[in-house]
Amino acid sequence: MTFDYIIVGAGSAGCVLANRLTENPAITVLLLEAGPKNTKLETIIPGGYMKLHRSSVDWNCYWTTPQPFLQNRKLYHPRGKVLGGCSATNAMAYVRGHAGVMMTCSPTLLNQSTTNSFKTHIMVKTGPCT
Ligand SMILES: Cc1cc2nc3c(=O)[nH]c(=O)nc-3n(C[C@H](O)[C@H](O)[C@H](O)COP(=O)(O)OP(=O)(O)OC[C@H]3O[C@@H](n4cnc5c(N)ncnc54)[C@H](O)[C@@H]3O)c2cc1C
Repeated sequence: MTFDYIIVGAGSAGCVLANRLTENPAITVLLLEAGPKNTKLETIIPGGYMKLHRSSVDWNCYWTTPQPFLQNRKLYHPRGKVLGGCSATNAMAYVRGHAGVMMTCSPTLLNQSTTNSFKTHIMVKTGPCT
């Protein structure tokens, strides 16, 4: 079997990419995911994500470096290993971005190096840039 595109990782980005590419029925996509199908109840309960850390839908292998401001403790860093990736194991928090913050973070992003369609997208999502 052959495919036009092979996407490794069916997390947030991989799923969006596969979805967008397959909007064209002529394009074939193979989406590979290391983790299982998403069947855990906690993946659809906001705030249920803490029960998913170090579970069968977590990579169970990532730690930070020693953190000097935390008495050099290393912190466990969960990463989703499941269809949906971290978007299946996250907190489901949603914060609407503010155009002013975007401008502060990256004025060049919006002023110089972006296409008009991206600027429009940012404005639709966040309100007009001032
Ligand atoms: C604990 C936690 C809480 C969070 N809470 C929020 C929140 O409340 N709100 C919010 O907006 N964001 C939140 N985030 C952030 C958000 O979920 C992530 O930024 C986003 O999901 C990352 O998307 P991604 O596509 O880059 O990676 P992922 O979604 O992690 O996708 C990567 C995928 O690739 C797969 N993969 C990796 N290697 C391979 C391989 N070799 N072969 C096959 N598959 C592979 C993984 O299993 C995974 O499914 C949270 C993140 C975490 C970890």
